[in-house]
Amino acid sequence: MGAMEQLPADDTLRADELLRALFAEFMRPPADLTVSQWADTNRMLSGKASSEPGPWRTDRTPYLRQIMDDLSARSSVQEVVVMFAAQLGKSESGMNWLGYIIDNEPGPVMCVQPTTDMAKRFSRQRIAPMLEETPALRRKVRENRSRDDANTTLMKDFAGGVLVVSGANSAASLRSMPVRYLFLDEIDAYPLDVDGEGDPVALAEKRTSTFARRKVLKVSTPTTKDFSRIESAYLQTNACRYHVPCPHCGEHQALEWGAKGEHGLRWHKLEDGSPDLTSVHYVCKHCGGVIDEHHKPAMLSRGEWRASKAPNRANRQTGYHLNAIYAPLGWISWPDLVAQWHDAMLAAKQGDVSKLKTFTNTVLAETWEEQGDKVAGHDLARRAEEYPLGVVPHGGLLLTMGVDVQGDRIEYRTWAWGRGQESWLIDRELIYGDPAVEEGQPGSVWVRLTERRRTPYLHASGSQVLVQACAIDTGGHHTQQVYAYVRAHHHSNVLAVKGSSAKGKAILSKPSDIDVTWRGQKIPRGVKLWLVGTDIAKGVIYGRLRQAQPGPGYIHLPKVLANTDEFEQMTAERLVTKYFKGHPRMEWIKPNGRRNEALDCAVYAYAAAIWAGIERWTDVQWSRLEERISPAVRDLFATPPPDAAPAAQQPITQAVGQPPPPAPRPPTRRPIQQQRPRTW
Ligand SMILES: [Zn+2]
Repeated sequence: MGAMEQLPADDTLRADELLRALFAEFMRPPADLTVSQWADTNRMLSGKASSEPGPWRTDRTPYLRQIMDDLSARSSVQEVVVMFAAQLGKSESGMNWLGYIIDNEPGPVMCVQPTTDMAKRFSRQRIAPMLEETPALRRKVRENRSRDDANTTLMKDFAGGVLVVSGANSAASLRSMPVRYLFLDEIDAYPLDVDGEGDPVALAEKRTSTFARRKVLKVSTPTTKDFSRIESAYLQTNACRYHVPCPHCGEHQALEWGAKGEHGLRWHKLEDGSPDLTSVHYVCKHCGGVIDEHHKPAMLSRGEWRASKAPNRANRQTGYHLNAIYAPLGWISWPDLVAQWHDAMLAAKQGDVSKLKTFTNTVLAETWEEQGDKVAGHDLARRAEEYPLGVVPHGGLLLTMGVDVQGDRIEYRTWAWGRGQESWLIDRELIYGDPAVEEGQPGSVWVRLTERRRTPYLHASGSQVLVQACAIDTGGHHTQQVYAYVRAHHHSNVLAVKGSSAKGKAILSKPSDIDVTWRGQKIPRGVKLWLVGTDIAKGVIYGRLRQAQPGPGYIHLPKVLANTDEFEQMTAERLVTKYFKGHPRMEWIKPNGRRNEALDCAVYAYAAAIWAGIERWTDVQWSRLEERISPAVRDLFATPPPDAAPAAQQPITQAVGQPPPPAPRPPTRRPIQQQRPRTW
């Protein structure tokens, strides 16, 4: 028989059980109970895994009822796709299904988590408490003593079946055996390719092909558009949305965030522009009536799933989409969502869209469309401004340098930073010479770098400003020479950095101690190396270069550089979709032959500014810096001539060699009352 031939050797011991399961599949009449009925009758939520322990009640989350019932034996649905916001209990529908299978409809079942480690955690923290505390399941599962301990966590035997918990990063575990039921949890977090064998979802689904009456449950919060597995699966289904009746006019509607002036979540603004969280309400699409959050339980219980596309009968697939506006009372509240949105919008206005992406994915349950394709050099030339190189314009309060090391030269760029991370490119120099020649020797490029670092820049107010921090790339040429320079100057805030293109890597992470080899001698832990997340940094810089209006985050560029290749270099890279084994992946690429040192230097100068603390500075600290740079004179001469002789003024004592100004805690904004991930 076909199923037998597909069994891997180490599973021959359970061939008899599988035979029985296959036999049962054809002989057994489907049980009358649905999954939601089983859960309401039997499921106990454990105090270990849930904030609301006790008997399961489907009426707490009425939107889960139909999803669970599609998974019941009597339903003809074969694939259920659940694209939900975070913390709406979506995985819990899968847990109830597992309990139902073990108790009521036994057969081989596989539950897949993004990684093997997460699979182990899921087994210990979710499955084990359910098995212990649900009386109907307590004695059904026996520990598999023939296997080692790890396998006991990942494999549970029960009469008529077996439950395997796998990691999507392990092809071997996905291939382990044929299964009738497949629960694919958080599929947008799976790797694109597993062990060179392709898509883990396809690999796991192949294991169900033996069974005519198979069922597959796919669950996830969506991620990036065109990359999201859950969205592409959802779009192949009948795409249901949960429609709830308005308490005023009774018309059904799907709850949406909504655009300004339309239906959706609405609120009043306070004087400072932030939302008045006591005023958050929902406006009905049909009658314009004001719906308060306390109406929600009644609306949810009278809600119904409505397909937005014709049901796909041939494939028997159903799909469900739900955003966090539907969260049951006492979970995430509407004011919490609005506060989170406001916070994300503030960050986005400064060029950091990562919070908006998180909001789009985890609150709206929608995919995020990457904007960061490219910026054109001639667009930068058009927006460049008249200000001289080497002079810090008004508003620029802190200087950092980014240095790139090439085979025959080093290049630096000096950037000025102001409130809200507004920035100005104020200097660039290409210092030709062999970077291998040490600083003490004649003609060394490092001598010139030190000189430039230590010479104050003229500020538009007439005072002088020193470079506060300098980040030098160690990833390219002359790594050991750079280490030696950084060792000699680290008291002057000179940092050794190395770009890392790892996905989602923070712009500046904790440094590691690196061994240095200098003049044939090994110096253990001789230098601190800072990894710079180039993916995010370039995304932020390109986002800011597209900003149209000066203000927080805006990048100012001097017109004098328009006749050089500076702007072409800054815009040399683009974010493109590349395909690896048929799967899309976003990557920064530099077309062959184009130079990009200007962009690299901008990234390093940005990392140095973050090191100095600009992300955490309060308005008070910026004001203090402003007072030191342009004290009272600023008020006497509104716009002092930029060429005013600096001789009469002392350099600002914000000297190289001083530690950066103390980095305080972030401003105490109203904390967002986001709850811990809910596991029930
Ligand atoms: Zn209405």
